[in-house]
Amino acid sequence: MAKTNDPKRNERGVTPQSEDFSAWYNELVLKAELADRGPVRGTMIMRPYGYRIWELVQAELDQRIKATGHENAYFPLFIPEGHLRREADHVEGFAPELAVVTHAGGKELEEPLVVRPTSETVIGEAFARWIDSYRDLPMLMNQWANVVRWELRTRLFLRTTEFLWQEGHTAHATADEAAEEVLVAAGFYEEIVRDCAAISSVIGDKTPSERFAGAERTVTLEAMMRDGRALQAGTSHGLGTNFAKAFDITYTSVEGVEEFCHTTSWGMSTRLIGGIIMAHGDDRGLVLPPRLAPFQVVIVPIGRGDDLGPVTEAAKKLALELTAVGVRVKVDDRPQMSPGFKFNEWELRGAPVRLELGPRDLSSGSVTLAGRLAEAKEQVALDEVVSTMPSRLDAYHDLLLERSTSFRLAHTRSVTSWEELVEAVSTGFAVAFHCGREVCEDRIKEETTATPRCIPLDGPEASGACAVCGEPSAYGKQIIFARAY
Ligand SMILES: [Zn+2]
Repeated sequence: MAKTNDPKRNERGVTPQSEDFSAWYNELVLKAELADRGPVRGTMIMRPYGYRIWELVQAELDQRIKATGHENAYFPLFIPEGHLRREADHVEGFAPELAVVTHAGGKELEEPLVVRPTSETVIGEAFARWIDSYRDLPMLMNQWANVVRWELRTRLFLRTTEFLWQEGHTAHATADEAAEEVLVAAGFYEEIVRDCAAISSVIGDKTPSERFAGAERTVTLEAMMRDGRALQAGTSHGLGTNFAKAFDITYTSVEGVEEFCHTTSWGMSTRLIGGIIMAHGDDRGLVLPPRLAPFQVVIVPIGRGDDLGPVTEAAKKLALELTAVGVRVKVDDRPQMSPGFKFNEWELRGAPVRLELGPRDLSSGSVTLAGRLAEAKEQVALDEVVSTMPSRLDAYHDLLLERSTSFRLAHTRSVTSWEELVEAVSTGFAVAFHCGREVCEDRIKEETTATPRCIPLDGPEASGACAVCGEPSAYGKQIIFARAY
């Protein structure tokens, strides 16, 4: 096919990653038609192709949330400003990012309303009314919603003033049960990131300075992007009794004693889509993991004149057969576009498999298969392509996950000195002992822009000297520093 001669190719192509990763990302999001900018600075329009990825994430996550006994509910967008002030750390953490409504219905409001940046406060207030005795516990709830955080520097999917997410909120009788819940929720995110998004990540605790505002513990998943930076893919917070005390979430125990509940909250958002783009994409465009790809297979019928009818018909029949075995398929039969244009477009849009069906394929009872990452095309019999497609897609998932894992390991270095740390965070993750003092974190932040990402849950117990100051390490193990999105 006339790939390089296609006049649209340059127009559709993106800046290579190696030249300017950030330009590559911004151009790709727009050209692959994942999202567009909204009329208010920092807002995002999710276009159908991008929104479909989110729907697939939602379906996978929602199923896991419900299977573990959580129920979906919906809480209001507006929160009285006073509610937010009840938890001191919480309001301090969110104050700079709040959007506040002062006027409504043509007059100034007596109490300003905050557009939710997260819903601990409004849900906490409701839980306080709904929970009475130990019989009401645990209370396990989740909501799918939009939230607003007024960001100064915004980027599509990664940091937008309004974004979509789910937020789980639970209340428990004991600290142990709440601690277990934090890990159950982190487990959902681990599965979504690994088993659906095919991204390798590190699960660990946030250091105190990086925890959620008002949390006692924050468990995070830190994934590595192809420029070596970290992306927080999901977080789960143990809130202790902080919110219970602020909102009076209490229960009467079996012994008849009034006790505070232990609460948790956890969230995963549309920024995961930014992570999928940056963890897998290459110079030719998106590389979508098959379990979250809107179209796992795109069929391009090729033919002119009298040939086109039978070829298109065969393509549609093949699509039905693939759909019947659970594959998401699109037949790209747009008559005004050349096959070469379509090949480039579906490469750019990251479809895992492209099937080309021309008159010659048809007469030999086969189809030409082009994998998004494969070097060469294959000729596959039509009946075989249907029966083997689910396992081909699984193998492609495994390949992406393996690639992501080896990339992360190749860009992770254990360091003991300042020089090594600076070097390691310029290309990936630095694993280092840290004294836990803010002065050392600040120096790293100022000179390299890297931050503590997490204390890996499975990191070996060890102690040593802080890579920055040489003082004894805190946390009982090495921690990860990286530049992050
Ligand atoms: Zn130090």
